Amino acid sequence: PPGLYIVATPIGNLSDLSPRAASVLAEADLIAVEDSRVTAKLLAHIGVKRPMTAYHDHVAEHVRPQLIAQMADRAIALVSDAGTPLISDPGYKLVRDARAAGIDVTTIPGPSAAVAALTLAGLPTDRFLFLGFLPPKAGARKAAILEVAQVRATLILYESGPRLGATLSALCDMLGDREAAVVREITKRFEETVTGSLEGLAERYRESPPKGEIVIVVAPPGAPEAAGEEQIDEALRQAMARLS
Ligand code: SAM
Repeated sequence: PPGLYIVATPIGNLSDLSPRAASVLAEADLIAVEDSRVTAKLLAHIGVKRPMTAYHDHVAEHVRPQLIAQMADRAIALVSDAGTPLISDPGYKLVRDARAAGIDVTTIPGPSAAVAALTLAGLPTDRFLFLGFLPPKAGARKAAILEVAQVRATLILYESGPRLGATLSALCDMLGDREAAVVREITKRFEETVTGSLEGLAERYRESPPKGEIVIVVAPPGAPEAAGEEQIDEALRQAMARLS
């Protein structure tokens, strides 16, 4: 049926493309893509050829209305190079305007590096805040971190290898030395999760910037520590004192 289909694609391992995602792509009249070479590879993997058109929220002021006009009687799929469209990727304006135009918008959910990294970090998952990419300039980056310093949630950030060390240092400076995880190359051959304190991780990666794609996960402030024997003894002593 006509409409806009938001289709999540793999973040590394092509087998993570869901059967429903594959069939929506195979039947789409047009696929709006970030990079047609990347999507062509995915389509080749499932043995499909479909027409593609480039889409970016910022260059698309004139492309968007044309695309939306076509959705009235054509099925148009939106994909990004990897993972879930709209998550640090183009698409929210397309969804907004399609919805306003009365177009059916539906999603074929699937992988996203942010949630995948959260499941690997071993940090609290009940509340989390996704920050995407921090600003590249040091001042703006510090301000962005300071803004969330009091938030009682696990933080999730995207980062590149060359900037990882500097970003971990900035996080340590502004948030204190919290527990964190650096999750790399999820679902790929060199998938790796390194946990430690922000300071320890910053030191490690400043010296040797890692290759590949990276997610940083940072513990919430003052995550309650498991009660040690000393605290339990003290609580017992106090309870006994109250009883006598
Ligand atoms: N829309 C994508 C998603 O849902 O995850 C994110 C797109 S964003 C432009 C690309 C960033 O996501 C990378 O720089 C990296 O921080 C993160 N990323 C994507 N794939 C990854 C992977 N396999 N392992 C670790 N991080 C990944």
